[in-house]
Amino acid sequence: MKLADLHTLFLECNAVCTDTRKIKSNDLFFALKGDNYNGNSYADAAIKSGAKFAVIDEEQYNTSSKTILVEDVLKTLQELAAFHRNYLKTPIVALTGSNGKTTTKELINAVLSKKYNTTATIGNLNNHIGVPLTLLSMTKDTQIGIVEMGANHLKEIEFLCGIAHPDYGYITNFGKAHLEGFGGIQGVIEGKSEMYNYLTTNKKTIFVNLSDAIQKKKTKNTNRYTFGNKTENTDVSISFIEAQPFVKSLYNTLEIKSQLIGDYNFNNIAAAITIGHFFKVKDLDLKDAIENYIPSNNRSQIINQDSNKIILDAYNANPTSMQAALLNFEKQDGKKIAILGDMFELGNSAIEEHQTIANLAQSLDIDQIIFIGENFNLAETNTTKAIQFESFNTFTEGFNIKSIEDSTILIKGSRGMALERTLKFLP
Ligand code: ATP
Ligand code: MG
Repeated sequence: MKLADLHTLFLECNAVCTDTRKIKSNDLFFALKGDNYNGNSYADAAIKSGAKFAVIDEEQYNTSSKTILVEDVLKTLQELAAFHRNYLKTPIVALTGSNGKTTTKELINAVLSKKYNTTATIGNLNNHIGVPLTLLSMTKDTQIGIVEMGANHLKEIEFLCGIAHPDYGYITNFGKAHLEGFGGIQGVIEGKSEMYNYLTTNKKTIFVNLSDAIQKKKTKNTNRYTFGNKTENTDVSISFIEAQPFVKSLYNTLEIKSQLIGDYNFNNIAAAITIGHFFKVKDLDLKDAIENYIPSNNRSQIINQDSNKIILDAYNANPTSMQAALLNFEKQDGKKIAILGDMFELGNSAIEEHQTIANLAQSLDIDQIIFIGENFNLAETNTTKAIQFESFNTFTEGFNIKSIEDSTILIKGSRGMALERTLKFLP
């Protein structure tokens, strides 16, 4: 079937779906394959559950007038997304970076939806499947699309830009995340910069934080729109006021009080304000959008339990975000306990990076540090302040967390550590 014909069928459908458990009437089902499943074998079930058509790539499942046989389902999903994006011609703001993509994406969405009908990436659907799904969720009513792009190896952002064709882009930062796949920090810079390459080649606009030396240098000769804390000659004037207890910023003469912790969130807020300003959202609407945004999904959330105040940042971790979280945590009042879990995907640098974080944590004004995970277990620690556990199980067996009281507790680790599990043990 020609792509244009598939697109016509797609427009007759309700939405795209890749999971038979979530299918709704009139959906277009794409039979994707994973390591442990073959979507083709669910095509029949999808149709029985109400799918209008099912796109498959194995002949033996082509058993109904509602199955559409293609060569490669994933490739077809990506091509259809690119086709749809071209058909709509809606302006797209893309963002990538090592840390803060989802937070920034949600802030940008909060700001832009004050004036426009927006469609943004849902949650963290930011990869070679999530980006196409986001594009396919845009309709003729969408006035601006906001697309998060994640990458853990080179050429991934180039590929995603080739599908989404963004008109605007922002890179949150270049940090030590996914070092394994990128082969080190230079690889991270090169990989994320693929978005700059796309935008520059196509004469598009790049939003730039001039306080970030790498962003500043990399976008020197591009069509850029800038902000930066106390940096002169920026297009938008935003400066950092304080981060205790929450990040407060000054936008022109307006004070903006967010519900976000951690001074690293200033950049995320400033980027969203800059993009809102660029798209002519009114100042008071910008303020309102930022002030009412509350983070979810274990990302820098504050939880006041009966006895302890918890900063739950268990959504993910890498050396850059771990360092930022610890430096912010040190500024908290009262007795401070950090519960830190292993950082994944660091390849050959894993031991060294865990040692660096262990050293940093111990050098800060933090009363006690609990390390959980194989790599933190290998780090050299000062045992009077730090306790090490090889796994979550050894931790729950070996440490009476229930006795912690009247403390501020930081919980941070990679997603795979799922450190939010500690919550139910804490009073
Ligand atoms: P993912 O790679 O999982 O998609 P992400 O880039 O979308 O992550 P967020 O989910 O927004 O990032 O934030 C994850 C964590 O990163 C936050 O809880 C916080 O600890 C840290 N973080 C957020 N923004 C920044 C920033 N600008 N600089 C450094 N660390 C940050
Ligand atoms: Mg994300």
